[in-house]
Amino acid sequence: MTGFREAVVDLGAIAANVAHLRTVVGTPHLMAVVKANAYGHGALPVARTALAAGADWLGVADVEEALQLRDGGIDAPILAWLHDPDVDFAPAIGRGIDLGLSSARQLRQAADAAAALGRTASVQLKLETGLNRNGVHEPDWPDVFALAAGFERAGLLSVRGLFSHLSNASPADDADAVGRFERGVRLAAEAGLTPSLIHLASTAAALRLPAARFSLVRIGIGLYGLSPFDDQSSHDLGLVPAMTLRGRVAAVRRVAAGAGVSYDHLWRAPEDGNLALVPLGYADGVPRQASGAASVRIRGGTHPIVGRIAMDQFVVSVGQADVAVGDQVVLFGDPATGAPSATDWADAAGTINYEIVTRVGHRVPRSYPQPGPGSPAGPDAAAAPDATPASAAPDPEG
Ligand SMILES: *Cc1c(COP(=O)(O)O)cnc(C)c1O
Repeated sequence: MTGFREAVVDLGAIAANVAHLRTVVGTPHLMAVVKANAYGHGALPVARTALAAGADWLGVADVEEALQLRDGGIDAPILAWLHDPDVDFAPAIGRGIDLGLSSARQLRQAADAAAALGRTASVQLKLETGLNRNGVHEPDWPDVFALAAGFERAGLLSVRGLFSHLSNASPADDADAVGRFERGVRLAAEAGLTPSLIHLASTAAALRLPAARFSLVRIGIGLYGLSPFDDQSSHDLGLVPAMTLRGRVAAVRRVAAGAGVSYDHLWRAPEDGNLALVPLGYADGVPRQASGAASVRIRGGTHPIVGRIAMDQFVVSVGQADVAVGDQVVLFGDPATGAPSATDWADAAGTINYEIVTRVGHRVPRSYPQPGPGSPAGPDAAAAPDATPASAAPDPEG
């Protein structure tokens, strides 16, 4: 039964993607990146599934996201790498969350919080290697490494890792970043640091740049079964898209040739035909930029969205096809089922598949069907019962 609006997340697909990526990449460690509510898929169920399927680290942007995972009962290692300038690191240190640190200032904040708690903070230093976001700037490496080594001798910090992030601007830019990162790793060793985790690659580099794999890869988009590349699909990469966004036809109408549809009458019916009203809009993350450009699946047919996508709803022209109130409408899912893909929607909206899944809104309940015996997800179904009870209720993290 399809809900009015729902994002169905196939945890078996997530487990299969983790297993596949582990095999392909072959690093000792794999971090499942579950920031932003696991790219819209639900942080807790995805985290549990990824860990059960062989990921041994979780990655999030900020400490708040990490604490929510701890509150949800997850005791696996977690790294958080983007911090409020006035962050209090004490709760994170107290709950064993690794801090990704990008400056001397953050090192001092972490050391102060550790001293106040009487604990040792586990930290991973982020090096700037060409992306020019955060990360310690190359000229500051010697000073920051010396500062970290001093805090380590004082028992305040333990430098568990060194990491950076690639621009994916070009193979040459990424190769240059790998070289810089390796210089940083050598310099850190000379400063007396002995990090056990060295990591640079997210999904794209994990798949295409073996020199960037080191001891751990940070996998986000691939976990969700989506491709980070323009020239290779999920299927080409052996990945299964996990999210299906769907709803039910809320109204049907037959209009005469020339009838205008939705705000501004951007579209007029070229001939008499049938329209279906779908109750998802930009409040639910359906990009308004895809007005007139994306398609959906209804009763085994693919039909175009016509007119403007509104806040709560959009209209589909099904021509002479029959549709009924209550029919299931799939906006995107696994293209192997005939559905449009998140990437098709991204192309229609001028964005990337990351944004399509991540922006699915709070009004859309996430549901996690249990794979049945003999279902295609069978081999990976072992991960699902641990992961979360089947539920059509909104994920509290959603
Ligand atoms: C989001 C993020 C990732 C995951 O990237 P994908 O392309 O989704 O695999 C990895 N590392 C960092 C630092 C990130 O911010």
